[in-house]
Amino acid sequence: MDGRYVYDLSEGNAEMKALLGGKGAGVAEMKRIGVPVPDGFTVTTSACVAAMRNGGTWPERLWDEIQAHLSTLERRTGRTLGAAERPLLVSVRSGAVLSMPGMMDTILNLGISDESAEGLAAESNDPRFAWDSYRRFVQMYGEVVEGVPGQVFEDELTALKNRRGVTQDTGLTADDLKELVATFRRAVRLSTGHELPTEPREQLRRAVDAVFGSWNSPRAKVYRGLNDIPDDLGTAVNVMQMVFGNKGDTSATGVCFTRNPATGARERYGEFLVDAQGEDVVAGIRTPRRLPELESVLPYAYAQLMATMDQLEHHYKDMQDIEFTVEDGTLFLLQVRTGKRTAAAALKVARDLVAEGEIDKETALRRIDPAQLDQVLHPALDPTQAGTPLTRGLNASPGAAVGRIVFDADTAAERGKAGEAVVLVRWETTPDDIHGVAAAQGVLTAHGGMTSHAAVVARGMGKPCVAGAGELRIDVDAHTMTVGDTVLTDADTLTLDGTTGAVYPGALPLVPPQITDDFSTVLGWADEVRRLGVRANADTGEEATKARELGAEGVGLCRTEHMFMATDRLPVVQRMILADTTDARQAALDELLPMQQADFEEIFTAMTGLPVAVRLIDPPLHEFLPDLVEQSLLVQRLEADDAPAELERARALLDRILRLSEANPMLGTRGVRLLLLHPEIGVMQTRAIIRAALAVRRRGLDPRVEIMVPLVGFAEELRRMREIIVATADDELASAGVTDLRYTVGTMIELPRAVLTADEIAEHADFFSFGTNDLSQTAIGISRDDAEGSFLVPYLEAGIVPANPFASLDADGVGELVRIGVERGLRTRPDLEIGICGEHGGDPASIIVFDGIGLDYVSCSPYRVPIARLAAARARLTGPAYDDR
Ligand code: ADP
Ligand code: MG
Ligand code: MG
Repeated sequence: MDGRYVYDLSEGNAEMKALLGGKGAGVAEMKRIGVPVPDGFTVTTSACVAAMRNGGTWPERLWDEIQAHLSTLERRTGRTLGAAERPLLVSVRSGAVLSMPGMMDTILNLGISDESAEGLAAESNDPRFAWDSYRRFVQMYGEVVEGVPGQVFEDELTALKNRRGVTQDTGLTADDLKELVATFRRAVRLSTGHELPTEPREQLRRAVDAVFGSWNSPRAKVYRGLNDIPDDLGTAVNVMQMVFGNKGDTSATGVCFTRNPATGARERYGEFLVDAQGEDVVAGIRTPRRLPELESVLPYAYAQLMATMDQLEHHYKDMQDIEFTVEDGTLFLLQVRTGKRTAAAALKVARDLVAEGEIDKETALRRIDPAQLDQVLHPALDPTQAGTPLTRGLNASPGAAVGRIVFDADTAAERGKAGEAVVLVRWETTPDDIHGVAAAQGVLTAHGGMTSHAAVVARGMGKPCVAGAGELRIDVDAHTMTVGDTVLTDADTLTLDGTTGAVYPGALPLVPPQITDDFSTVLGWADEVRRLGVRANADTGEEATKARELGAEGVGLCRTEHMFMATDRLPVVQRMILADTTDARQAALDELLPMQQADFEEIFTAMTGLPVAVRLIDPPLHEFLPDLVEQSLLVQRLEADDAPAELERARALLDRILRLSEANPMLGTRGVRLLLLHPEIGVMQTRAIIRAALAVRRRGLDPRVEIMVPLVGFAEELRRMREIIVATADDELASAGVTDLRYTVGTMIELPRAVLTADEIAEHADFFSFGTNDLSQTAIGISRDDAEGSFLVPYLEAGIVPANPFASLDADGVGELVRIGVERGLRTRPDLEIGICGEHGGDPASIIVFDGIGLDYVSCSPYRVPIARLAAARARLTGPAYDDR
């Protein structure tokens, strides 16, 4: 790099994204390969970063460089910024390194003034066009640079249309628009207390500065937060000669995708408007027309666009999202970027591009974001329970959503964060609604097309969206939405089907999603590449079956205490805990044994031929007893009621609860500590496991048993526990006369002491399973429930911690402990099998760490298994991740 802050378009290319931003690099690359684009230059991201670092003050040379490039542009185009004759008009466009659609600002038609508007009118012989361009400029400049609320202009525009009795902007005459320019300028004066500056170069300087500033707009910050985009990248600014789609019937503007971004189908997909400019299509001002109609309107430009779409897709070897404008029949491209797509489309496009010979399988895998797979794993409407739609809109983002109606983004964010399922219902969303969309189950809008803001944002987030439901009337102040005679309020529930565009009153039943051929094929490729095994955490036969369907290679964690919580079992468990004599306790355990055995049989059956790690009871006993406060209240009530027998029982229970209560149960009598204190529980569980395995084997199946001991901190704990397990299991096998049923005994590693003494512990373990949930709590020394409810959120917001360590592994701390534990364990037992079974097992970022440490497998919840399979494959692939322009 030569330290310049400004690059001519002809100097850039696709590789220069970091410096020129995605938009600038993309336009430069188009110019390089001969696609028609308007002329211009790019102010680099380093200029923006330098200004930000300096409290907003520009680097010294920047303005000179911009002016020099502007002069060159004027010379090349034979036009002059702001001149009365042959005026040059430019757009000033933001362009981040990673695409942030709609999040930052752009100003069009800069360079227009009273003189140049007249010049433009004369030159084009179209005063209407000239004044339309002018009023658009005042509107955008007023909003972006002067900070005038956009609504002010919209209101004036609507008022004028009403006075003229027209419904569309195109119904206004040149004189109307000239009047509007004056009105808009007055609005700026009223709002800011000063006149709009009229010197175009000064406007340019301030516009560039405003675009720099839009990097730190609240909505841009929210978007970056949601998409893990660093705050310090800054934006580039592209200054480009205007091309005009608003020059009447021979001009148009539009957006298109080279394939269908919702389904991945290989078809032309897009929308356009004749006689329109810039964001008219996405802003939902007029209802846009479908791309294929452009063929009859502007056949030559259409043919050229089709050829260009093919050229660009072949060039980038991926689906592209394109902005175009036709000025007087001539096609120009204004932007190209990798098309954002649903997960279903991502899978299909990847598979098709491999079949078409454009890319190889590894490239295909690299392009699919594992976290996005969640979408195809999400529920859809139950087709057998079809309701009657209240209304329909566009099927803008697939999947089904059920939730309470909410009419504004702030409330949606608030209620959604509180755990309530809400559906955001809006006339149209704006970038400022993004936090509400993020917290909602789905979005419904009355207005806007498939490329409207709501649709684009919802697709990116994998949220169902129905857009442009035209029959819908929304009264935000009254909190009502009306379709015909039906009025719904924010007390009502709504069901959206983003796959079909249907909207239903009430809550319809949903079904789990279908796993398609594309899904299986691409996940199959991931299996060929990955080294890490993927197991599931499953506590029931049903979960184990689901997990296996989704590709799990075993169960990495079966939590037996979940089996104790079922309503038919809890009374027996409580009797076991409350028993005063060994006999009474044994009787309760004898009753529990067949219940547990039945559960294990189901899981072993579902996982036949694959390993199942069963963890012996982990939580402290009081978790199975009533709540202390409630029981105290019960005793009080009974004291008043004069019911001596009941009172005595309640008091005994209260007494036991008190004795079992602990100040810090997480670090109390649980796991192996509990099991050594009450060996009969572990004995019962071991018998149930072995008997289940024997029963399943008798049916010709192949159970692979792994018995796992929780919360070991001392090798001696595991040595003793192992002795109990082995004695019990061998006793069961001997009485069954079976000698060849193999089982292994291992331990969870979830305490820092276990990590540091892993070499000693490994002497008694056939396998390790890192319990990264508890290991994170004990290593960092924070209790998850307390932290997530209090300091963790402010910590995240303040950037004290980069991510929630319970969602994404703290690689430097907890990850380092895992590394040490693995190394020390293997030192004693090179054949030790090692996995992890915390929630991190389904987190793509954590999986990269686990793959690097060299674990044998990760285990995660059943629905995250495909995500883990893909993430494990991507962890093996070097080279750049998904290229998001
Ligand atoms: P965003 O990042 O929000 O898409 P853009 O910089 O792409 O913003 O610009 C907003 C709109 O203005 C787009 O529709 C774009 O095609 C259009 N536009 C930008 N520059 C020009 C130009 N020089 N001539 C015509 N239209 C333009
Ligand atoms: Mg925009
Ligand atoms: Mg754009």
